[in-house]
Amino acid sequence: MRITDIEVIGLRVPSEGRRQEWGEDAVVVRVHTDEDFIGIGESDTSPEVLRAVVEAPYSHSSCVGLKETLLGKDPLQIDDRWQEMYASSTYLGRRGAAIHAISAIDIALWDIAGQARGVPVCELLGPRAHADLPAYGTFIPSNDPMASAATALSLMEQGMAGAKIGGAAFGMNLTDDLVHLEAMRSAVGLDFQLMVDLVGRWGDPDRAGAALDLYMDIGLEWAEEPVPADDFAGYAKLSRRSGTKITGGEALETRFDFEAFMELARPDIVQPDITRCGGITEMIRIADLAAERQIRLVPHGFSTGILNAATAHFLVSRPEAHLVEMSTSNSPLFTNLVQNPIRADKGRIAPPETVGLGVVLDEDVMDNYRIF
Ligand code: MG
Repeated sequence: MRITDIEVIGLRVPSEGRRQEWGEDAVVVRVHTDEDFIGIGESDTSPEVLRAVVEAPYSHSSCVGLKETLLGKDPLQIDDRWQEMYASSTYLGRRGAAIHAISAIDIALWDIAGQARGVPVCELLGPRAHADLPAYGTFIPSNDPMASAATALSLMEQGMAGAKIGGAAFGMNLTDDLVHLEAMRSAVGLDFQLMVDLVGRWGDPDRAGAALDLYMDIGLEWAEEPVPADDFAGYAKLSRRSGTKITGGEALETRFDFEAFMELARPDIVQPDITRCGGITEMIRIADLAAERQIRLVPHGFSTGILNAATAHFLVSRPEAHLVEMSTSNSPLFTNLVQNPIRADKGRIAPPETVGLGVVLDEDVMDNYRIF
């Protein structure tokens, strides 16, 4: 089998003057083959930048667009294709957008491999370790603490394992944040996990430590990205404190970043995003490094149903997996882009049982939001 084309499809929800939120754009890749298998992948990144990485013409052997690198090659030799993409895009990236683009294509190659073998992707990854896994719900708050409380309560009533709040103004003002968290805790009681995502906004470990002290009575399960992603020393300082678990990693790529993060930042949980860290292939390597160190891995996930399917296939193959992130976005790219999205059933998630990744894209939704 040979790769004949790589199609990049940019999608964006019109924002009508307001700043768009997470989940309101998406970039899908379709890898075409000469045997009529078409693999689907995505990356939670800038659609325009990803397109440039895929379509860039040859500059020299360390600076080649990914399409030119892969055309005519066998899509089933995924490790070889991954290494070729990484080597030929060295000067385009090594991290960031180049790895995001490799991630999207890698997911599509696993989709093709599953289709070609006639099995779901999870069956290619080893013996299935879980029928399904518990999920927690992530939401972006409004300014109304009672709305946050209602969202957390609704997630609990759906059987989810917990609720995570982050984005919008959360993390900017400790007093306002505390009002949200107190309202959420009083709505859900003591037995439901609450997490906070700071997107690095606490800035430095001393301010973050003071915030964690202020929130101690809330009983947070974890504080995510409390300091900027590169501040490994700041992470380590926070991780040494007892109490709230410290998590991060959605902004990191490749096993190399994650190995350094685990060694230097000492997080309690790592959160690679399968559409950014290097795809399913690299996620396996990162998970092996985490398992060796007995660090838990809970993938980041806040994009479309393509990400959710890839993450679910990966996680059910890992004995140590224990939790899945589930977006609660209202973006049509989350709710409608995939015709058969994974939904939590009594708070639990399972991958599609059909061949490959198992996602069917809604062509009308693609046409509606397509920017290229
Ligand atoms: Mg996050």
